[in-house]
This record gives sequence, C-alpha cells and structure tokens, in this order.
Amino acid sequence: MADTIFTKILRGDIPCHKVYEDEHVLAFLDIRPLSYGHTLVIPKEEAATLDQLSDDASAAIGRVLPRLCRAIRAITGVEQFNVLQNNGPMAHQAVFHVHFHIIPKPGVDEGLGIEWPAKKLDPQEAAKLAASLSNEIGG
Ligand code: AMP
Repeated sequence: MADTIFTKILRGDIPCHKVYEDEHVLAFLDIRPLSYGHTLVIPKEEAATLDQLSDDASAAIGRVLPRLCRAIRAITGVEQFNVLQNNGPMAHQAVFHVHFHIIPKPGVDEGLGIEWPAKKLDPQEAAKLAASLSNEIGG
C-alpha cells in the first residue's frame, strides 16, 4: 500500500493536532473541519478500506470510539454528532488509510449534511439477500 498523508502523520513526518493515542489507534483534529471538534480516528495498521482491516485493529478502534465521542461532546457542548467512515472514491474517500470521522452536529445547517435516497425493500429479495450475506460471513 502506498504511503498516505495519515502514514506520514503516524510516523511523525508531518504534524497533527493529536487528541488521543494508544498502541493501535491515533485520533487527531481534521484539518478541514465540518464543525468545531471534527476529529479523525485512525488505526495504526495500514489498511485502505474498512473491509481490509484486521479484527484486532477494528476492536481497538471500537473500544475507543465511544470514549472519544464523549470527550468531544463534553468539550464542544454539542450533544449530537455523526460518525462517518468512507470507503472508495465514489463513497467520498480521499485518504486511503482507514479513518472514522466524528463530526459534531451543532445545528441543522452545520456539520455533516446527508442525502438519503431511500428505496423500498422487497421482502422476497430481502430474505434471499440476508441469507446470502449470512452464508458469506459464516454467521
Ligand atoms: P475522507 O474524505 O473520508 O477520505 O476524509 C479525509 C479527511 O482527512 C478530510 O476531512 C480532510 O480534511 C482530512 N485531512 C487530510 N489531510 C489532513 C491532515 N494533514 N491533517 C488532518 N486532517 C487531514
């Protein structure tokens, strides 16, 4: 995997406004925040997209995400927030190292805006799809 800007941050080659660090995870302020407190949480493991991340690195992120959300809520005073995780250019990923955005939502027109083009779920199609997915994941 080619070096990304986040690899350089992890190596300390370029600076960041660090919020949290442990053995597996680094969190720092987004350089172009959608709202005050917008924070990025990244695994130290090199993986471009979430499906490529190991169980251990994923667990380490999962352990700390709620704690980071609580800290951001406490310090910004903004109680509502989005957690966003983009995979692939069409899905708005610009940096190809897994990252979670924590984005405070201080008002209707601030923070993350989302288009949600919901469609109908056909019950028969849904049953087939759920079975296929379940079979694939082995659950
Ligand atoms: P995404 O579109 O999900 O790949 O988001 C990448 C995010 O990384 C954007 O919100 C950028 O503002 C942010 N970003 C890019 N370079 C840096 C940097 N050097 N320090 C902090 N955040 C950055």
